[in-house]
Amino acid sequence: MNDDTRHDFQDCHAAGSQPVSETVAGAILTIDLGAIRENYRRLKARLAGVRCAGVLKANGYGLGALPVASALMQEGCDIFFVALLGEGLALRKAIGPGPDIFALNGLPPGSEAEAAAAGLFPLINSAPQLTAWRETARAAGRNLPAAIQVDSGMARLGMSAVEVEAVAGEAGAFENIDIRFVMSHLARADEPHEAANESQRLEFERLRKLLPPAPASLANSSGIFLGPTYHYDLARPGAALYGVNPTPHEANPMLPVIQIHAKVAQTRAVEKGAGIGYGHTLHAQGPLRLATISFGYGDGWHRRAASAAWFDGVRLPFVGRVSMDSIILDISALPAGTLSEGDLVELIGTSQSLDDAAGHAGTIGYEILTSLGQRFHRRYLGA
Ligand SMILES: *Cc1c(COP(=O)(O)O)cnc(C)c1O
Repeated sequence: MNDDTRHDFQDCHAAGSQPVSETVAGAILTIDLGAIRENYRRLKARLAGVRCAGVLKANGYGLGALPVASALMQEGCDIFFVALLGEGLALRKAIGPGPDIFALNGLPPGSEAEAAAAGLFPLINSAPQLTAWRETARAAGRNLPAAIQVDSGMARLGMSAVEVEAVAGEAGAFENIDIRFVMSHLARADEPHEAANESQRLEFERLRKLLPPAPASLANSSGIFLGPTYHYDLARPGAALYGVNPTPHEANPMLPVIQIHAKVAQTRAVEKGAGIGYGHTLHAQGPLRLATISFGYGDGWHRRAASAAWFDGVRLPFVGRVSMDSIILDISALPAGTLSEGDLVELIGTSQSLDDAAGHAGTIGYEILTSLGQRFHRRYLGA
């Protein structure tokens, strides 16, 4: 890691948190913005001319909505998706005017005027939201942009088929609404052989033809890899930009984006029979050398994770329970004296990928990323 490429984004952390220096932090989260840019370029290449947005919900999947947005804007990305209008307000304030910001979770009752004033574009997910946005536009005396989301078979967000059919027959239903996209979301895009993908695509086709003509958008990260019939006019990748494998049954076509290293807080040797960690869930079967790292579930590493850290390619298994602020490692596989206080071990990096770490924790890379806590020293590369 080259010092010249480091950059601290002072304002990019979740509200209320402060940047943490490397010397006082227990763990270091390295975020490679150059890799995010390369991942965006790789997706663009696959999309062959189709527009590509960036999904920045949950603070850019935990990595910082502002630095990620800035990196994507350098690649020409000018459409962002967040989940909540509140996230959209924060992002608009951080990046200023310019890129379009859509809020996936729709338009909560009472939020319409604020959303319109901030120039945010809601997804219209229900008939009442459509009415509310239309009335807001009429009151404002201008057209207001939005995307219409339809439920093509996930039963989560978007207008149902019944609602779409009803509004399709209603005169003036879309008056004063500037429909930027008609959208839907795939439930099983990471399972390319599932028939549900094609059923959803066909239902999307049927529903969008009932609506006023507008550009269409269906594919998330994995959807991009289902092929050109799923690309339409705009793709909406999130996870793949951040290095999560969008094709879980094949090699990862994306570059890794994050690394996590934790500091050794203490080392010790214990005798056979020593009880290790909370609940003494483990007793030493023989003499062991241990290292305690300053990293735990308070940093987002799941307590249930049966996992390991790595040093110089050597696996250092967790022993005993994961605590809030510490984890005990068995370092007996390393020559005595190799590790001392302040040394760094790897949790995610060259020895253990994000997806592997997620697998050991019984979860997915998305959840690891969005669980990462506020105590890390965050090091941005390639800013
Ligand atoms: C989260 C989300 C995306 C991005 O999904 P990834 O799997 O992270 O690429 C796209 N569209 C919608 C509606 C979403 O909720």
